[in-house]
Parts: sequence; C-alpha cells; structure tokens
Amino acid sequence: MLILTSQNYHSDEANKQYMSNSQYKDFLACESKAMAKINGWKESAPSVFGVGSYVHAAFEGTLDTYKIEYATEIFNAKGKPYADYAKADDMIRVLKSDPFCMFILQGQKEVIMTAGFAGAVWKIRLDLYAPERSLFADIKTVKSIHDKYWDNDRGYVSFVEAYKYDTQMAIYAEIEKRFSKRQNWYKPLIVAVSKEDVPDKEVIGFDDNDIERELETIAGNMPRIMSVKTGMEEPNRCEKCRFCRESKQLKGITHYLDLQVG
Ligand SMILES: [Zn+2]
Repeated sequence: MLILTSQNYHSDEANKQYMSNSQYKDFLACESKAMAKINGWKESAPSVFGVGSYVHAAFEGTLDTYKIEYATEIFNAKGKPYADYAKADDMIRVLKSDPFCMFILQGQKEVIMTAGFAGAVWKIRLDLYAPERSLFADIKTVKSIHDKYWDNDRGYVSFVEAYKYDTQMAIYAEIEKRFSKRQNWYKPLIVAVSKEDVPDKEVIGFDDNDIERELETIAGNMPRIMSVKTGMEEPNRCEKCRFCRESKQLKGITHYLDLQVG
C-alpha cells in the first residue's frame, strides 16, 4: 500500500487505498458524493478551509511557510491580512496565552498512523500526539463553542456531535491503539477555539464509553460502505448535497409533503 506522507496524505490515491474519518463521514452523508470525491470530484474551493489550516500551521510550527505559500489569499495589496486571517491571528494568540492549552498542546505534531479496523485500512493524522502522557489532541476552529445544532435523531446537540467530532475521536483512539499494539485507548482531546470577536476556548474530553459506542456504530456501517467503495454495490444518492444537485435530473413532480427537509 501507499506509504503516507504529509504531501500525499490527502491525495486521491491515498483516499482510494485507505478509509479515513472524513471519508467515513462522506459515506454517511451521501454515498454518491463520497464515491465522486474518491474519484477526484472536489467539494469546494480550498479557501473554505483557510482559517482552520492557518491556525493548525501555527501550532505545527509551519506558519511562516504557510504565509508564503498562500500569500495572495492571506494578504491584501497593502500587505495587511484580510479580516478572516486577522481573526485567525487572534485565535492563535488566545490559545497561546492560555497555559493549560499550551500544556496540552506539547508533543509531536501532525503524526500519521494507519491500521486495520472494521474491514478497512484506516489513515489518521493526529494534530498533537503525546504518548508519554497517554493523550492526543485535535485543534478545532469553530463559529461558537456554545452554539446548538439540530440533529434529527438526537435533538439539539453541540458542535462536537453536529460535526461528528465524537466519531472522529473514537476512530483516532482505535487506530492509534491498534497502530501502537496496545490494549487501552489514549485520551482524546479537542482543543476548540471560536471565531467570535473575543475568541472563546475549551479543552474537551471523552470517556471510554463514548469511544466504545461510536466504534460499535462504525463497525455496523462499514460492511455497506466497503461494498460500495469496492464497487460491489451501487452508491445511493441523497438528492440534497452539492454533488447530487450538480448531477440531478428530474423525473417528474414531487408532492409538497414528500419534500425532504432537515
Ligand atoms: Zn448527495
């Protein structure tokens, strides 16, 4: 199999050979879109992820290179950062000025691991890996840490569940455990920082029970996902996502009570 590096981690080839947290979430959202992405279809302009990856680069120690590479996106003609990136600088300052955040964020950065789980070989990349403290952490830039989101199954939930970060942490915990050939999970942590005027911050934890529950759900979903990914079964269309809208062809009239909402 492909040896993963930071250069090829997000490549189409890597996504064909390995399952990842984001690919798993893609399959749950829309199988047709997930397959299209594996085959090279692009969701949206990379700039959407700009602020998040800018903050990541700061904690990885690669912000200077990042600023050069994306200079035209970050700076205006006068050399001043655009509002989004000025905000990102605030967010970085907020995390760096908090001793507890900085304590948590000490360790190896951007560590790639692979391991087999639930019928697939998975790839993960940990923002922060501190084996000597039995923990790993992921930095999340969010609109607001305390916003509520509607979930059809669970009612109002926090950004953690809305963006399935609980699922991501469970996958990371299990793959790290298998990669390291250990019996117990390291502690997954989310270091969240908000994009508000005065950025909020929080270090968020999970229990073994949470990890176990998520892994059971994943194991239940994987047989279908792998049979679609390997071409044994046809992907379903959600008829709502951007990919489905792009490739949608109407076949008739939809009664107003049959419109899918939510
Ligand atoms: Zn779709």
